Amino acid sequence: PKKLTIGLIPGDGIGKEVIPAGQQVLQALPSKYGLTFDFMNLKAGFEEFKNTGVALPDETVQTLKTKCDGALFGAVSSPTHKVKGYSSPIVALRKKMGLYANVRPVKWVQGQGIPVDMVIVRENTEDLYIKEERIFNRNGEKVAEAIKRISEKASWKIGKIALEIALRRQKVREQTSDSIHKSASLTVVHKSNVLSVSDGLFRETISNLYKQDLAKYGSVEYKEQIVDSMVYKMFREPQIFDVVVAPNLYGDILSDGAAALVGSLGLVASANVGDNFVIGEPTHGSAPDIQGKGIANPIATIRSTAMMLEFMGYPEPAAQIMAAVDANLKENKITTPDLGGKSSTTDVVEDVLRRL
Ligand code: NAD
Ligand code: MN
Repeated sequence: PKKLTIGLIPGDGIGKEVIPAGQQVLQALPSKYGLTFDFMNLKAGFEEFKNTGVALPDETVQTLKTKCDGALFGAVSSPTHKVKGYSSPIVALRKKMGLYANVRPVKWVQGQGIPVDMVIVRENTEDLYIKEERIFNRNGEKVAEAIKRISEKASWKIGKIALEIALRRQKVREQTSDSIHKSASLTVVHKSNVLSVSDGLFRETISNLYKQDLAKYGSVEYKEQIVDSMVYKMFREPQIFDVVVAPNLYGDILSDGAAALVGSLGLVASANVGDNFVIGEPTHGSAPDIQGKGIANPIATIRSTAMMLEFMGYPEPAAQIMAAVDANLKENKITTPDLGGKSSTTDVVEDVLRRL
């Protein structure tokens, strides 16, 4: 069997309670997949910062780069007031590991709530998040500005991975029947009616990429949507969206909004993807209000673990993990309080393991 080394970065708060769920699921994968796992526990977070003065130790980054095949990140606490020397380790980690895409699926449980089965692919490296801000004086008045930077290269890369995800989802759909989509589509989100230069470059780059390789991408329907009407449509009829690709800021906002469509933050998974590495990450934070109670929903982390495997090139075990989670949710019996249940984190993990 093939041995994969996975870095585990639990971080703070419930990060410590949910990351073991990902580890247990990997350990419980049937032997037919021919995979075994080694785990390395790595440090990062606000607690680590308080203890050592460093939120993301070099050792964590070096170990990921030299020893790990993939990783799982829990959550970190970030104080709302500014703390000298502290900045979020996940943001730094995405940068240092070249993880240019944040991939976030939002999926309903069949028969419950609003039908939705979409993936938001958010560009992770530029746009307003380059944080080139300044404040200056104009005729005795304070003015602040922030630079929004969009490059052709980053737009091309994010467009390409989004189209590949659309093709892959299409392929998976052909084998299963649990999707609300009949065919694949890509929706490019932009505001080029106003920002014709910056968002214009984003939109045009992806549109060209699509048109230049119709042989490969032609089975994916290409659509564009201006970001404000995107929000409207996403809440009115989320079922029409399959893969959605967006620049950093719109992607950030859309993906949190989309999470509201499926009930609990404790369900929503993500993957930070680069050309050579992937970090699975539940989208929720460290949840100090429920920390230590043993009731954190582990499903976001379990789904993130499956996504990590998928992007590492192991779609079959990933699909099996996703199916085990879906079965747990569909039965709607062993669930944590955020979903209205009475079960603990470990009860849910055990139920998912039983279904694997
Ligand atoms: P949060 O996601 O931690 O919690 C929001 C609400 O959702 C809380 O009521 C919480 O109990 C609930 N919740 C979240 N995950 C859950 C789960 N798995 N199971 C059950 N309920 C869950 O967001 P917040 O309260 O705004 O932030 C708390 C801390 O987390 C802050 O310090 C913030 O900076 C940090 N944060 C970190 C990340 C990250 O690491 N990527 C993301 C968001 C927030
Ligand atoms: Mn966000």
